[in-house]
Amino acid sequence: MSFPEERLRRMRRTPALRSLVQETRLHPANFVYPLFVSALVKDREPIVSMPGIFNLSPKEAAAEAKKAYELGVQAVLLFGTPAKKDAVGSASFREDGIVQRGIKEIKAACPEIVVVTDVCLCEYTDHGHCGVIKGDDVDNDATLDILVRQALTHAEAGADIVAPSDMMDGRVDVIREALDENGLEQTAIMAYAAKYCSAFYGPFREAVDSAPQFGDRKTYQMDPPNAREAMREIELDIDEAADIVMVKPALAYLDIISRARDRYDVPLAAYNVSGEYAMVKHAAASGMADEQRLVMEVLTSIKRAGAGIIITYHALDAARWLRG
Ligand SMILES: [Zn+2]
Repeated sequence: MSFPEERLRRMRRTPALRSLVQETRLHPANFVYPLFVSALVKDREPIVSMPGIFNLSPKEAAAEAKKAYELGVQAVLLFGTPAKKDAVGSASFREDGIVQRGIKEIKAACPEIVVVTDVCLCEYTDHGHCGVIKGDDVDNDATLDILVRQALTHAEAGADIVAPSDMMDGRVDVIREALDENGLEQTAIMAYAAKYCSAFYGPFREAVDSAPQFGDRKTYQMDPPNAREAMREIELDIDEAADIVMVKPALAYLDIISRARDRYDVPLAAYNVSGEYAMVKHAAASGMADEQRLVMEVLTSIKRAGAGIIITYHALDAARWLRG
């Protein structure tokens, strides 16, 4: 069959016909909303490089989480800025640490919402690297102990999911083992499995003041040209019992999301990162394009590529737009 019998425009004629054949549909339940909890702010302070996003006190983070939940967004991802940073990121595993306090405030205000916590050292170290330093590089195995302590305190404070983003080898395995040994076998792990060394993280580093003070993250984060290696990273994390695997960033890595979706049956997340967010905000502010259309097209592309879970700073706006 071909033209003139076959006409693909037939099913595009009206909004209802287009809706009937729509292949990919976004829902607020697809979104995870990142929140920045800071020990340095009283209520909330805008993050200049990320218009519309704030550094929040634990109390304000709880209010923001509640707002998200009321819009149908059922999960938040917490990042913390401590009052004091040091060489080993010891503020990250204090019982009264900033993220631990944030978890408790959020769970008190909105017990139903899924609280995910970022597990890494870069927000807590004075050198800005994701692990402890030995010589001029990050020491993988020494870092694991600190990640475990951090993950345990998050889980004990009430986190539903801990999300290691450090890219150390073997961390999912040791975190799972430690959680299980401490009676926290119901705490899930979302692994930043294929996390690339990307320029798109720029605005985030301003938010939590985590730019590395020397060198870069190329010895632990992935090299952007590599796709097969991403499959190995994902496979290892699945073998280590990750409940959810993630590809980060999203937009320049849609092929990686698609490959992972075809290959593995675990829940797949993608992180629509700060630089991707800032590009859309700046383009819209300059009048170059309509913000709502840009955002929905970006988020749809990530879901169409295969990610059912989309971590995005656009979550609240998108949820509002989806409600109409
Ligand atoms: Zn990090």
